[in-house]
Amino acid sequence: MAAPKVAVVGAGVIGLSTALCIAETCPSCSVTVLSDQFSPNTTSDVAAGMLIPHTYPGTPIHVQKQWFKETFTYLFAISNSAEASEAGIHLVSGWQVFKNSPKEELPFWSDIVLGFRVMSKAELKKFPQHQLGHAFTTLKCDCPPYLLWLEKRLKATGVQIYTRKVSDLWELHSEYNVVVNCTGIGACQLVGDEKLFPVRGQVLKVHAPWVKNFIRDGDGLTYIYPGIHRVTLGGTREKENWSLTPDPGTTKDIFDRCCSLEPSLQGAQDIKVKVGLRPSRQHVRLQKEVLSQGGVKLPVVHNYGHGAGGFSVHRGTAKEAAHLVGECIAALQGSSSRAKL
Ligand code: FAD
Repeated sequence: MAAPKVAVVGAGVIGLSTALCIAETCPSCSVTVLSDQFSPNTTSDVAAGMLIPHTYPGTPIHVQKQWFKETFTYLFAISNSAEASEAGIHLVSGWQVFKNSPKEELPFWSDIVLGFRVMSKAELKKFPQHQLGHAFTTLKCDCPPYLLWLEKRLKATGVQIYTRKVSDLWELHSEYNVVVNCTGIGACQLVGDEKLFPVRGQVLKVHAPWVKNFIRDGDGLTYIYPGIHRVTLGGTREKENWSLTPDPGTTKDIFDRCCSLEPSLQGAQDIKVKVGLRPSRQHVRLQKEVLSQGGVKLPVVHNYGHGAGGFSVHRGTAKEAAHLVGECIAALQGSSSRAKL
Protein backbone atom coordinates (compact mmCIF):
# COMPACT_ATOMS: atom_id res chain seq x y z
CA MET A 1 0.00 0.00 0.00
CA ALA A 2 1.33 3.50 -0.89
CA ALA A 3 1.66 6.16 1.87
CA PRO A 4 -1.74 6.08 3.63
CA LYS A 5 -3.67 9.33 3.15
CA VAL A 6 -5.37 10.67 6.26
CA ALA A 7 -7.76 13.67 6.29
CA VAL A 8 -8.47 15.43 9.58
CA VAL A 9 -11.63 17.55 9.37
CA GLY A 10 -11.58 20.54 11.76
CA ALA A 11 -8.95 23.07 12.82
CA GLY A 12 -9.81 23.82 16.44
CA VAL A 13 -7.55 22.60 19.24
CA ILE A 14 -8.81 19.03 18.73
CA GLY A 15 -8.29 18.83 14.96
CA LEU A 16 -4.85 20.48 14.98
CA SER A 17 -3.51 18.45 17.92
CA THR A 18 -4.92 15.21 16.46
CA ALA A 19 -3.30 15.92 13.08
CA LEU A 20 0.01 16.58 14.88
CA CYS A 21 -0.19 13.31 16.85
CA ILE A 22 -0.96 11.34 13.66
CA ALA A 23 1.98 12.97 11.84
CA GLU A 24 4.26 12.18 14.81
CA THR A 25 3.15 8.57 15.28
CA CYS A 26 2.82 7.67 11.57
CA PRO A 27 5.64 9.44 9.69
CA SER A 28 4.83 7.44 6.52
CA CYS A 29 1.26 8.86 6.43
CA SER A 30 0.30 11.81 4.27
CA VAL A 31 -1.81 13.97 6.60
CA THR A 32 -4.16 16.78 5.45
CA VAL A 33 -6.26 19.15 7.58
CA LEU A 34 -9.53 20.33 5.98
CA SER A 35 -11.62 22.97 7.72
CA ASP A 36 -14.12 25.66 6.87
CA GLN A 37 -12.77 27.93 9.65
CA PHE A 38 -9.34 28.45 11.21
CA SER A 39 -8.01 30.59 14.08
CA PRO A 40 -9.21 33.19 15.08
CA ASN A 41 -12.71 31.99 14.06
CA THR A 42 -13.16 28.72 16.01
CA THR A 43 -14.71 27.92 19.40
CA SER A 44 -11.19 27.08 20.56
CA ASP A 45 -10.21 30.75 20.04
CA VAL A 46 -12.89 31.89 22.51
CA ALA A 47 -11.88 29.51 25.30
CA ALA A 48 -10.01 30.62 28.39
CA GLY A 49 -7.68 27.63 27.84
CA MET A 50 -7.19 26.82 31.54
CA LEU A 51 -6.10 23.31 32.45
CA ILE A 52 -8.79 22.59 35.02
CA PRO A 53 -10.70 19.51 33.86
CA HIS A 54 -14.42 19.38 33.33
CA THR A 55 -15.93 16.00 34.30
CA TYR A 56 -17.58 13.91 31.54
CA PRO A 57 -20.27 11.86 33.30
CA GLY A 58 -20.16 9.09 30.66
CA THR A 59 -16.38 8.47 30.73
CA PRO A 60 -14.57 6.48 33.48
CA ILE A 61 -12.59 8.81 35.75
CA HIS A 62 -9.31 6.89 35.23
CA VAL A 63 -9.60 7.55 31.47
CA GLN A 64 -10.26 11.28 32.00
CA LYS A 65 -7.38 11.42 34.43
CA GLN A 66 -5.04 9.82 31.88
CA TRP A 67 -6.12 12.33 29.16
CA PHE A 68 -5.51 15.23 31.56
CA LYS A 69 -2.16 13.87 32.72
CA GLU A 70 -0.90 13.47 29.15
CA THR A 71 -2.05 16.98 28.27
CA PHE A 72 -0.53 18.52 31.41
CA THR A 73 2.81 16.74 30.88
CA TYR A 74 2.94 17.83 27.21
CA LEU A 75 2.14 21.49 27.92
CA PHE A 76 4.37 21.59 31.00
CA ALA A 77 7.32 20.64 28.78
CA ILE A 78 6.40 23.44 26.34
CA SER A 79 6.05 25.93 29.22
CA ASN A 80 9.57 24.96 30.25
CA SER A 81 11.09 25.48 26.79
CA ALA A 82 12.15 28.39 24.59
CA GLU A 83 8.86 27.92 22.66
CA ALA A 84 6.68 28.89 25.64
CA SER A 85 5.86 32.50 24.76
CA GLU A 86 5.26 31.83 21.05
CA ALA A 87 3.04 28.84 21.93
CA GLY A 88 1.18 30.97 24.52
CA ILE A 89 1.67 28.39 27.30
CA HIS A 90 2.40 29.48 30.87
CA LEU A 91 2.06 28.38 34.47
CA VAL A 92 -0.47 30.22 36.61
CA SER A 93 -1.17 29.94 40.33
CA GLY A 94 -4.40 30.77 42.10
CA TRP A 95 -7.43 29.64 44.02
CA GLN A 96 -10.64 27.69 43.57
CA VAL A 97 -13.04 28.88 46.29
CA PHE A 98 -16.31 27.41 47.58
CA LYS A 99 -19.30 28.90 49.39
CA ASN A 100 -20.34 25.38 50.50
CA SER A 101 -18.35 22.15 50.82
CA PRO A 102 -17.84 20.53 47.39
CA LYS A 103 -19.26 17.01 46.69
CA GLU A 104 -15.78 15.50 46.45
CA GLU A 105 -13.17 16.36 49.06
CA LEU A 106 -10.40 16.20 46.44
CA PRO A 107 -10.90 16.55 42.69
CA PHE A 108 -9.54 13.61 40.62
CA TRP A 109 -6.90 15.87 39.10
CA SER A 110 -5.49 17.18 42.40
CA ASP A 111 -2.29 15.12 42.13
CA ILE A 112 -1.58 16.22 38.54
CA VAL A 113 -1.65 20.01 38.96
CA LEU A 114 1.24 21.38 41.02
CA GLY A 115 1.23 22.07 44.74
CA PHE A 116 -2.48 21.36 45.34
CA ARG A 117 -3.43 22.16 48.94
CA VAL A 118 -6.27 23.40 51.11
CA MET A 119 -6.20 27.19 51.53
CA SER A 120 -5.21 28.61 54.89
CA LYS A 121 -7.57 30.81 56.97
CA ALA A 122 -5.32 33.79 56.21
CA GLU A 123 -5.66 33.23 52.45
CA LEU A 124 -9.42 32.83 52.73
CA LYS A 125 -9.66 36.36 54.16
CA LYS A 126 -9.37 37.52 50.52
CA PHE A 127 -12.73 35.82 49.84
CA PRO A 128 -15.10 36.81 52.70
CA GLN A 129 -18.14 35.18 51.01
CA HIS A 130 -16.41 31.77 50.74
CA GLN A 131 -15.99 29.02 53.33
CA LEU A 132 -13.08 27.03 51.93
CA GLY A 133 -10.81 26.73 48.95
CA HIS A 134 -7.96 25.01 47.15
CA ALA A 135 -4.72 26.63 46.05
CA PHE A 136 -2.70 25.19 43.18
CA THR A 137 -0.61 25.95 40.11
CA THR A 138 -1.79 24.84 36.69
CA LEU A 139 -1.15 25.68 33.03
CA LYS A 140 -2.97 28.06 30.75
CA CYS A 141 -3.00 28.19 26.95
CA ASP A 142 -3.45 31.58 25.34
CA CYS A 143 -5.68 30.05 22.72
CA PRO A 144 -5.10 31.91 19.41
CA PRO A 145 -1.27 31.81 19.81
CA TYR A 146 -1.42 28.10 20.70
CA LEU A 147 -3.55 27.30 17.65
CA LEU A 148 -1.14 29.24 15.41
CA TRP A 149 1.80 27.41 16.98
CA LEU A 150 0.12 24.04 16.28
CA GLU A 151 -0.50 25.11 12.65
CA LYS A 152 3.16 26.08 12.32
CA ARG A 153 4.27 22.70 13.71
CA LEU A 154 1.95 20.91 11.29
CA LYS A 155 3.35 22.78 8.28
CA ALA A 156 6.91 22.04 9.47
CA THR A 157 6.11 18.30 9.53
CA GLY A 158 4.71 18.42 5.98
CA VAL A 159 0.99 18.35 6.83
CA GLN A 160 -1.16 20.01 4.12
CA ILE A 161 -3.81 22.49 5.31
CA TYR A 162 -6.79 23.52 3.14
CA THR A 163 -9.94 25.58 3.63
CA ARG A 164 -12.88 23.33 2.75
CA LYS A 165 -16.35 22.73 4.13
CA VAL A 166 -17.16 19.03 4.21
CA SER A 167 -20.88 18.36 3.73
CA ASP A 168 -20.66 14.58 4.09
CA LEU A 169 -17.65 12.53 5.30
CA TRP A 170 -18.31 10.10 2.43
CA GLU A 171 -17.33 12.81 -0.11
CA LEU A 172 -13.70 12.21 1.02
CA HIS A 173 -13.67 8.46 0.25
CA SER A 174 -12.02 8.69 -3.19
CA GLU A 175 -9.21 10.98 -1.96
CA TYR A 176 -8.33 9.59 1.49
CA ASN A 177 -7.85 6.17 3.14
CA VAL A 178 -8.87 7.31 6.65
CA VAL A 179 -10.92 10.33 7.78
CA VAL A 180 -10.79 11.83 11.28
CA ASN A 181 -13.80 13.85 12.40
CA CYS A 182 -12.78 16.72 14.75
CA THR A 183 -15.59 19.13 13.88
CA GLY A 184 -16.72 20.07 17.42
CA ILE A 185 -20.28 21.37 17.41
CA GLY A 186 -20.21 21.07 13.58
CA ALA A 187 -20.71 17.31 14.07
CA CYS A 188 -24.40 18.00 14.85
CA GLN A 189 -24.88 18.78 11.17
CA LEU A 190 -22.07 16.73 9.64
CA VAL A 191 -22.92 13.36 11.20
CA GLY A 192 -26.36 14.14 12.71
CA ASP A 193 -25.25 13.32 16.27
CA GLU A 194 -28.32 13.89 18.43
CA LYS A 195 -26.35 13.36 21.65
CA LEU A 196 -24.27 16.48 20.90
CA PHE A 197 -25.60 19.89 21.96
CA PRO A 198 -24.21 23.43 22.33
CA VAL A 199 -23.55 25.01 25.71
CA ARG A 200 -23.17 28.71 24.97
CA GLY A 201 -20.40 30.53 26.79
CA GLN A 202 -19.89 34.29 26.89
CA VAL A 203 -16.60 35.68 28.22
CA LEU A 204 -14.86 39.05 28.50
CA LYS A 205 -11.20 39.53 27.58
CA VAL A 206 -9.90 42.58 29.47
CA HIS A 207 -6.70 44.51 30.03
CA ALA A 208 -5.86 44.20 33.76
CA PRO A 209 -2.14 43.37 33.92
CA TRP A 210 -2.01 43.64 37.72
CA VAL A 211 -4.16 40.49 38.08
CA LYS A 212 -1.63 37.67 38.32
CA ASN A 213 -3.54 34.87 40.09
CA PHE A 214 -6.50 32.89 38.80
CA ILE A 215 -9.71 32.81 40.83
CA ARG A 216 -12.46 30.27 40.14
CA ASP A 217 -15.71 30.07 42.03
CA GLY A 218 -16.25 26.38 42.84
CA ASP A 219 -19.45 26.20 40.77
CA GLY A 220 -17.29 26.98 37.71
CA LEU A 221 -19.59 29.78 36.54
CA THR A 222 -17.54 32.77 37.66
CA TYR A 223 -13.84 32.85 36.89
CA ILE A 224 -10.88 35.17 36.40
CA TYR A 225 -8.07 33.63 34.34
CA PRO A 226 -5.00 35.81 33.65
CA GLY A 227 -3.25 35.13 30.35
CA ILE A 228 -0.04 36.53 28.88
CA HIS A 229 -1.69 39.70 27.53
CA ARG A 230 -5.32 39.71 28.69
CA VAL A 231 -7.45 38.40 31.55
CA THR A 232 -10.47 36.22 30.68
CA LEU A 233 -13.56 36.88 32.82
CA GLY A 234 -16.39 34.37 32.75
CA GLY A 235 -18.82 33.17 32.25
CA THR A 236 -22.08 31.54 31.26
CA ARG A 237 -23.30 28.00 30.51
CA GLU A 238 -26.46 28.10 28.41
CA LYS A 239 -27.54 24.68 27.23
CA GLU A 240 -29.03 24.39 23.69
CA ASN A 241 -28.50 28.12 23.02
CA TRP A 242 -27.02 28.53 19.50
CA SER A 243 -26.67 32.34 19.58
CA LEU A 244 -23.20 33.71 18.86
CA THR A 245 -24.32 37.30 19.51
CA PRO A 246 -22.96 38.84 22.74
CA ASP A 247 -25.64 39.84 25.21
CA PRO A 248 -24.98 43.23 26.93
CA GLY A 249 -26.94 42.25 30.07
CA THR A 250 -24.77 39.14 30.41
CA THR A 251 -21.61 41.22 29.93
CA LYS A 252 -22.60 43.42 32.88
CA ASP A 253 -23.53 40.40 34.99
CA ILE A 254 -20.17 38.66 34.31
CA PHE A 255 -18.26 41.86 35.06
CA ASP A 256 -20.14 42.41 38.35
CA ARG A 257 -19.65 38.79 39.46
CA CYS A 258 -15.92 38.95 38.72
CA CYS A 259 -15.55 42.30 40.52
CA SER A 260 -17.17 40.83 43.60
CA LEU A 261 -14.40 38.17 43.62
CA GLU A 262 -11.60 40.57 42.65
CA PRO A 263 -12.63 44.22 43.31
CA SER A 264 -9.55 45.63 41.55
CA LEU A 265 -11.12 44.57 38.24
CA GLN A 266 -13.24 47.75 38.46
CA GLY A 267 -10.19 49.34 36.85
CA ALA A 268 -10.05 46.90 33.90
CA GLN A 269 -9.78 48.51 30.46
CA ASP A 270 -10.52 47.63 26.84
CA ILE A 271 -13.27 45.06 27.47
CA LYS A 272 -13.82 42.72 24.50
CA VAL A 273 -16.75 40.27 24.50
CA LYS A 274 -16.56 36.78 22.92
CA VAL A 275 -19.08 33.98 22.57
CA GLY A 276 -18.48 30.29 21.81
CA LEU A 277 -20.52 27.10 21.65
CA ARG A 278 -19.06 24.27 23.73
CA PRO A 279 -19.52 20.96 21.85
CA SER A 280 -21.14 19.06 24.72
CA ARG A 281 -21.96 15.38 25.18
CA GLN A 282 -22.16 12.92 28.06
CA HIS A 283 -18.78 11.63 26.87
CA VAL A 284 -16.28 12.54 24.17
CA ARG A 285 -17.00 10.55 21.00
CA LEU A 286 -13.64 8.87 20.50
CA GLN A 287 -14.26 5.81 18.38
CA LYS A 288 -13.83 4.10 14.99
CA GLU A 289 -16.64 3.67 12.50
CA VAL A 290 -16.53 2.13 9.03
CA LEU A 291 -18.71 3.89 6.44
CA SER A 292 -19.64 1.73 3.50
CA GLN A 293 -21.43 2.27 0.18
CA GLY A 294 -21.71 -0.25 -2.67
CA GLY A 295 -18.98 -2.47 -1.19
CA VAL A 296 -16.54 0.47 -0.83
CA LYS A 297 -15.42 1.18 2.74
CA LEU A 298 -14.12 4.33 4.45
CA PRO A 299 -12.71 4.03 7.99
CA VAL A 300 -13.54 7.07 10.13
CA VAL A 301 -12.19 8.01 13.58
CA HIS A 302 -14.40 10.41 15.54
CA ASN A 303 -12.85 12.78 18.09
CA TYR A 304 -15.36 15.42 19.13
CA GLY A 305 -17.69 16.41 21.97
CA HIS A 306 -15.12 17.83 24.42
CA GLY A 307 -17.64 20.27 25.95
CA ALA A 308 -16.19 22.64 28.55
CA GLY A 309 -12.84 20.85 28.80
CA GLY A 310 -11.27 20.51 25.36
CA PHE A 311 -8.02 22.29 26.21
CA SER A 312 -7.60 20.31 29.43
CA VAL A 313 -7.62 16.93 27.67
CA HIS A 314 -6.75 17.68 24.03
CA ARG A 315 -3.33 15.99 23.87
CA GLY A 316 -4.64 12.84 25.63
CA THR A 317 -7.61 12.45 23.29
CA ALA A 318 -5.43 13.30 20.25
CA LYS A 319 -3.03 10.47 21.18
CA GLU A 320 -5.92 8.04 21.53
CA ALA A 321 -7.39 9.15 18.16
CA ALA A 322 -3.94 8.74 16.51
CA HIS A 323 -3.77 5.21 17.95
CA LEU A 324 -7.19 4.41 16.42
CA VAL A 325 -5.99 5.81 13.06
CA GLY A 326 -2.97 3.46 13.34
CA GLU A 327 -5.37 0.51 13.84
CA CYS A 328 -7.38 1.54 10.75
CA ILE A 329 -4.19 1.73 8.66
CA ALA A 330 -2.96 -1.65 9.94
CA ALA A 331 -6.33 -3.17 8.96
CA LEU A 332 -6.14 -1.58 5.47
CA GLN A 333 -2.55 -2.80 5.00
CA GLY A 334 -3.59 -6.29 6.14
CA SER A 335 -6.44 -6.42 3.66
CA SER A 336 -4.34 -5.03 0.75
CA SER A 337 -1.58 -7.63 1.31
CA ARG A 338 -4.21 -10.42 1.55
CA ALA A 339 -5.70 -9.19 -1.76
CA LYS A 340 -2.27 -9.55 -3.45
CA LEU A 341 -1.91 -13.23 -2.42
P1 FAD B 1 -13.76 23.93 17.54
O1 FAD B 1 -12.75 24.82 18.13
O2 FAD B 1 -15.15 24.42 17.38
O3 FAD B 1 -13.23 23.39 16.16
C1 FAD B 1 -14.06 22.71 15.24
C2 FAD B 1 -13.45 22.88 13.86
O4 FAD B 1 -14.21 22.10 12.91
C3 FAD B 1 -13.49 24.31 13.35
O5 FAD B 1 -12.28 24.60 12.69
C4 FAD B 1 -14.65 24.31 12.35
O6 FAD B 1 -14.50 25.29 11.34
C5 FAD B 1 -14.49 22.90 11.78
N1 FAD B 1 -15.69 22.35 11.15
C6 FAD B 1 -16.90 22.14 11.72
N2 FAD B 1 -17.75 21.59 10.83
C7 FAD B 1 -17.06 21.46 9.66
C8 FAD B 1 -17.38 20.95 8.36
N3 FAD B 1 -18.59 20.47 8.10
N4 FAD B 1 -16.43 20.98 7.40
C9 FAD B 1 -15.18 21.47 7.65
N5 FAD B 1 -14.82 21.95 8.87
C10 FAD B 1 -15.75 21.94 9.86
N6 FAD B 1 -11.81 24.24 27.74
C11 FAD B 1 -10.80 24.08 28.64
O7 FAD B 1 -10.21 23.01 28.72
N7 FAD B 1 -10.43 25.12 29.47
C12 FAD B 1 -11.07 26.32 29.46
O8 FAD B 1 -10.71 27.23 30.21
C13 FAD B 1 -12.16 26.49 28.54
N8 FAD B 1 -12.84 27.66 28.51
C14 FAD B 1 -13.88 27.82 27.64
C15 FAD B 1 -14.60 29.01 27.65
C16 FAD B 1 -15.64 29.21 26.75
C17 FAD B 1 -16.42 30.50 26.78
C18 FAD B 1 -15.95 28.20 25.80
C19 FAD B 1 -17.02 28.42 24.78
C20 FAD B 1 -15.25 27.00 25.81
C21 FAD B 1 -14.23 26.77 26.74
N9 FAD B 1 -13.52 25.57 26.80
C22 FAD B 1 -12.49 25.41 27.68
C23 FAD B 1 -13.92 24.43 25.95
C24 FAD B 1 -13.11 24.37 24.66
O9 FAD B 1 -13.15 25.61 24.02
C25 FAD B 1 -13.68 23.29 23.72
O10 FAD B 1 -13.81 22.06 24.38
C26 FAD B 1 -12.76 23.12 22.52
O11 FAD B 1 -12.44 24.37 21.95
C27 FAD B 1 -13.37 22.21 21.46
O12 FAD B 1 -12.45 22.17 20.41
P2 FAD B 1 -12.83 21.56 19.00
O13 FAD B 1 -11.58 21.58 18.19
O14 FAD B 1 -13.55 20.26 19.18
O15 FAD B 1 -13.93 22.55 18.40
